[in-house]
Amino acid sequence: MGPLFTAALLAVALGFFAFTMARRLAPLVALRKEDRVSRTGERAMALLRYGIGQRRLVDPEERGPGILHVLIFAAFVVLALRTITLFGMGFAEDFHLPLLAPEGPLGLAYGFAKDVMVLGALVGVAGFLWRRLVSKPDRVTLSTEGVVILLFIAGLMLTDMLFDGAGLLARGEGGSAWAPAAAIGRAALAGLSPEATRAIGQGAFWLHLAIILLFLNVLPYGKHFHIITALPNVFFAHLPPAGALRKLDLEVEDASYGTATVKDLSWKEAWDVYSCTECGRCQTHCPTYVTGKPLSHKEVNRAIRHHLVDVAPALTAMARAKDASARESAAAKLPAITEVVPPETFWACTTCGWCETACPVLIENVPRLVDMRRHQVLVESSFPDEAARVFKGIETQGNPWGIGSNKRTEWCEDLDVPRAASGEPFEWLFFVGCAGAFDDRQKKVSRAIVRLLREAKVSFAILGDEETCNGEAARRLGNEYLFQMQAQANVETLNGYGVKKILVQCPHCLNTLKNELPQFGGNYEVVHHAELIARLVAEGRLRPGRADGIGAVTFHDPCYLARWNGVVDAPREALGAVPGVVLREMPRSGRQGFCCGAGGGRFWLEEKLGTRVNQERIGEAAATLGDAGGVVATGCPFCLTMMKDGVNETGREEKLRVLDVAEIVALGIADRAP
Ligand code: SF4
Ligand code: SF4
Repeated sequence: MGPLFTAALLAVALGFFAFTMARRLAPLVALRKEDRVSRTGERAMALLRYGIGQRRLVDPEERGPGILHVLIFAAFVVLALRTITLFGMGFAEDFHLPLLAPEGPLGLAYGFAKDVMVLGALVGVAGFLWRRLVSKPDRVTLSTEGVVILLFIAGLMLTDMLFDGAGLLARGEGGSAWAPAAAIGRAALAGLSPEATRAIGQGAFWLHLAIILLFLNVLPYGKHFHIITALPNVFFAHLPPAGALRKLDLEVEDASYGTATVKDLSWKEAWDVYSCTECGRCQTHCPTYVTGKPLSHKEVNRAIRHHLVDVAPALTAMARAKDASARESAAAKLPAITEVVPPETFWACTTCGWCETACPVLIENVPRLVDMRRHQVLVESSFPDEAARVFKGIETQGNPWGIGSNKRTEWCEDLDVPRAASGEPFEWLFFVGCAGAFDDRQKKVSRAIVRLLREAKVSFAILGDEETCNGEAARRLGNEYLFQMQAQANVETLNGYGVKKILVQCPHCLNTLKNELPQFGGNYEVVHHAELIARLVAEGRLRPGRADGIGAVTFHDPCYLARWNGVVDAPREALGAVPGVVLREMPRSGRQGFCCGAGGGRFWLEEKLGTRVNQERIGEAAATLGDAGGVVATGCPFCLTMMKDGVNETGREEKLRVLDVAEIVALGIADRAP
């Protein structure tokens, strides 16, 4: 019965699997096209690092469960050859893969590795069962599916051990350290009659094959679909620049204006939700989840995945439609995306990027949420009132405060700062930014930067009244139309002066000018002031003096500086160069920093739900600096305001000061200046 039975088992199971996969993947054809295969070399490297290498799974904070996952993942990889061998044995009892004859050196080595993996996987299963059923950490959702899958895996490992153990007994061989799992299987069967041992061995063999095929067919029906989709998802992941949002083509006749229904998602965004393991790592330090807002990346994924399954017939009908009207009539059956992801969810996001950095399978979240905002703003005209004021301010005055554009250079009226329009050559264009020009607190930072540039004899100029808002807040609040107008205006001005190098004091300017203006023909070297200061110090052009009275300093990493643009060391190098500064790191720092609550345009919106993000962060800074207090340093106008507000709201004015990196460095220089 072996070969026939094996063939029938395979035909039925693989046929059903192909049927299910076709049903799962067919709707993706109806979704937005997106190129996720070019730059193959970079994709292959990401696959090696994050997929095969499981890099994000073993980060220090999550090392325990990460190692458990690695044990199971490694067993699946190594046991792939074993699985092929076992199916081959279903056709011919002595089947083995070339080079892997059981008695040959490679076969013995593989057998050893396989047995170690089998035992490792059992440890992994036991650990995960403990987490799911006993320790129950917050980020893990208890589900029957999760437990059943773990029992499947345990069943695979135990049947493997029993099959090999029975084989040892049948051949009259003893247990060996080179086959530790088989030796345990043998010990479990020792004492049984040869007939019973043979029956158990055969039963284990067929049960093993049956579990594999059942397992394969169950996967596409739940979150464990990720076992199939996760590695491709890593390959298809967004490549740098990480911080750039997709440019909407607003000129074409059938322009897309964001996500109205699930049909506006890209095929990759659907693949993303298929790949979500619901591990919950994305919500551990999500500022919205932590402070009680109704947004968790995991839950958004789950909602969209269930919805995709519900509307699969309509999407499949769209994919198969012969003409535009058939396609439109199928699309009309789709509910609005707001019925799947409520507006309060996608408006809550600060676009801080923590979730994307934490996700072990590189699922993207921010572009999807911004696309939902885009549809609300561009088509439905439905957005928070505060956002309307921001849009109007940018449209009419070129800044989100709506302050008269003729006041843009008031901050430097007494400084005689060179203008690009003067015609004098300059090396750096200092893009001051709206906060640096209009916000009273940030104007002091602008002046400190000018002082440092002059001290280091840097050749620079500003645009002055020709500068206008980069539109970053408008883009992340969904107003792509307004953003594109601002981007085009700035590119025109910058290119008009032949600008090559831009200095910014705001990470949001950094991200937009560096990563998004290339979409409009603006290609520049853009650096944050902390980077330039660190560079000038290293070159010996800037020698900070002692900053008396500063003492302990902890640096709050702006999300758009550290996480989205990888600038982590420069601010620390700049601060570390100031005599008298003692740097202390918050537990959440660098690329793993915790948001202040201002990103994604949230700075401009009221925070009505849950607790305040800035208070959570300032609490962490205060704990880091201890009873004596000190300085919370940052490098972003919006972080500066949020941190200062956090200090005031929590009554810590006596203990904490909030300063920009440039102010701390310039303070030392001011003390030393004649
Ligand atoms: S999005 Fe990523 S981190 Fe979040 S639950 Fe899914 S797999 Fe885990
Ligand atoms: S980007 Fe930040 S705020 Fe938005 S869901 Fe992710 S972690 Fe939360």
